[in-house]
Amino acid sequence: MIIVMKQGAAQQEAAAIVKELEERGLKPTPLYGVERTVIAVIGEERDLSISHLESLKGVEKVMRVVKPFKLVSRETRPEPTIIEVNGVRIGSDQLAIMAGPCSVETEEQMETAAKELSALGVKILRGGAYKPRTGPYSFQGLGQEGLEILKNTADRHGMAVITEVLDVRHLDQIAQKADILQVGARNMQNFELLKELGRIGKPIFLKRGMSATIEEFLLAAEYILAHGNPNVILCERGIRTFEEAVRNTLALATVPLVKELSHLPIIVDPTHGTGKKSLIESMTRAAIAAGADGVMIEVHPNPSEALSDAQQQLTPAEFKELLKNIEPVANAMGKKL
Ligand code: PEP
Ligand code: MN
Repeated sequence: MIIVMKQGAAQQEAAAIVKELEERGLKPTPLYGVERTVIAVIGEERDLSISHLESLKGVEKVMRVVKPFKLVSRETRPEPTIIEVNGVRIGSDQLAIMAGPCSVETEEQMETAAKELSALGVKILRGGAYKPRTGPYSFQGLGQEGLEILKNTADRHGMAVITEVLDVRHLDQIAQKADILQVGARNMQNFELLKELGRIGKPIFLKRGMSATIEEFLLAAEYILAHGNPNVILCERGIRTFEEAVRNTLALATVPLVKELSHLPIIVDPTHGTGKKSLIESMTRAAIAAGADGVMIEVHPNPSEALSDAQQQLTPAEFKELLKNIEPVANAMGKKL
């Protein structure tokens, strides 16, 4: 249920309603917007009468939510959520660019990547320390050592860090080093992990599962919000279909649809979304045109030698060219690079 307070309603009026709902055993979450306050209510609502709630002081209207997600819903919060990381306001008119190698491999590799990327204005450096690999004999990432390399390199270049958390056991250790914690496609429905991420204040980058519906995707985000962390950034990274010519089918309609359904920012990953170097630039342009709040792109100093995803990583020079070529589309969409 959603309780929309009148414009200019006093904070005490919302607080009184929160108190009453709590006394009835429900879980109300007030969201204080610029224009008005909205209270999202979770719990057994059956015994609550809408007319009683509507009669309370300061209430404009009460709506039962038919959608299974509430906190992530646009109905709950009409204005977009903006998450600031290292001067980048993700979800605003500033296009967020996250770039870096698929995996952290060596100090030198990360140093070269960070140096080149920061010179191009990239503020958020990606790199996998814990890697979710399909086969157990493939490179599994450097783990803690990779995390240290990533963090130290980013610090030297004034960059923020985004890296993947695969397992609850690594959570606190990763949360100490990372500015954004990534949940990979394979973990989108790891519900125990999502619940734990609720208690971390840092932004969570939630990638769509490769066979998840949009509703399941938003419900996964709902888990994180419902457990206390409102800072969720969604990421469309393509889904698995019958098509074999590309690694994944990049479902760009997700972007405007998520914008209709949710207030959370949405980023597109055209690298995993296509798995093909030659397609990344066009799909980046398409993502921006579709209204994405930013993109995540894999860039490696020497892609052909990469220990993971060698076929899809751009060189810094190719990435520079991409940035130049996407700018007109960003500008046309009213976004700053
Ligand atoms: C990644 O970004 O490194 C990754 C493993 O992506 P995904 O979870 O989308 O496959
Ligand atoms: Mn990768």
